Amino acid sequence: MQVVAGVDLGGTAINYTLLDQQEKFLLEGLCEHPALSKEGPEQCLQQIADGLKIATNRAGIMLKDVTAVGLDTPGPASAGGQLSARGSTNFAHPKWAGFDIRAGLAHKLGKPVCYLNDANAAALWGHYTIFGAHSRETSISSVIGTGNGGGIILDGNVVKGKNGFGAELGHVMIPYQNISGINGLKALCNCGRIGDLESLCSLTAIEKNILPYFLPRYPGHDLAKVDIHQAAKLVRGLADNGDALCKEVFRVQAHALGLFFDEMVNTFDPDAFIVGGGALETSQEFQRWFIEQIRAAMPHQREEQAAIPIHVMPDGDTAGARGAAIEALKLAREGGLA
Ligand SMILES: [Zn+2]
Repeated sequence: MQVVAGVDLGGTAINYTLLDQQEKFLLEGLCEHPALSKEGPEQCLQQIADGLKIATNRAGIMLKDVTAVGLDTPGPASAGGQLSARGSTNFAHPKWAGFDIRAGLAHKLGKPVCYLNDANAAALWGHYTIFGAHSRETSISSVIGTGNGGGIILDGNVVKGKNGFGAELGHVMIPYQNISGINGLKALCNCGRIGDLESLCSLTAIEKNILPYFLPRYPGHDLAKVDIHQAAKLVRGLADNGDALCKEVFRVQAHALGLFFDEMVNTFDPDAFIVGGGALETSQEFQRWFIEQIRAAMPHQREEQAAIPIHVMPDGDTAGARGAAIEALKLAREGGLA
């Protein structure tokens, strides 16, 4: 028995999955273990190792059957898994600064480990569900959450970039002035840019930019009575139920994404687009409407490119761990380990 593991290290939880050589996942849903990132590298890596043992037990296999491990974490980190020297929200402990978490885990487990940031791991999972693990196709994923993460799988490989910032799609500028009905809206992003994808297509964008723009235009709307941070979180459910203001908010997000996808059509000529994240945890009817709106905002395409499919990313919660496992399977196959 030879399998690979996917380990998704988040802020509060570690998620595990196991994948065999036939590309079958051995664990249904989530196998979760509390994360100890706040306590620094030593405790955190030990905790990952302990949780991996639990996960293998649950799948009925031995730890020694695991030939390679894929790890994904929130960034910023280098393409090889060295965490930013400046620290980050999830790795605030001073010992994390500049720490090579990939090498650290490989040392702790005594197994080869490969690394992806969490957005790229999710993108790889989405790509795999459409094209399989041997794909040479190209896909562009956009994950709409608190921010806007994404990933590019180019000819079957994750684009990581020189410094690990490849496919930071949320901070790509878009011609947002083309979106109808938002004249005068100031689309400021946390990164300082005005009018990048995240400034219009994220939960943060709803709270900071889009809702403050639309609320005065819908006098007496219930969301005006709620704290803006809370109100932003309510928009998705209300939009799904047909609320006019909230649907406008999502139309703006979809149109921003359409403009961005058009840029990607002309840059990569991809096989598919994939949209995921909290924004699409809605009814299927709403998902279909959202995707129609994305297409509606895309300028006229060449005949050959007019039908590039736009998919909804499956299984949001397990995407990171499963994408990391697929990267580990590649590592194992390339290294002759599986
Ligand atoms: Zn930005």
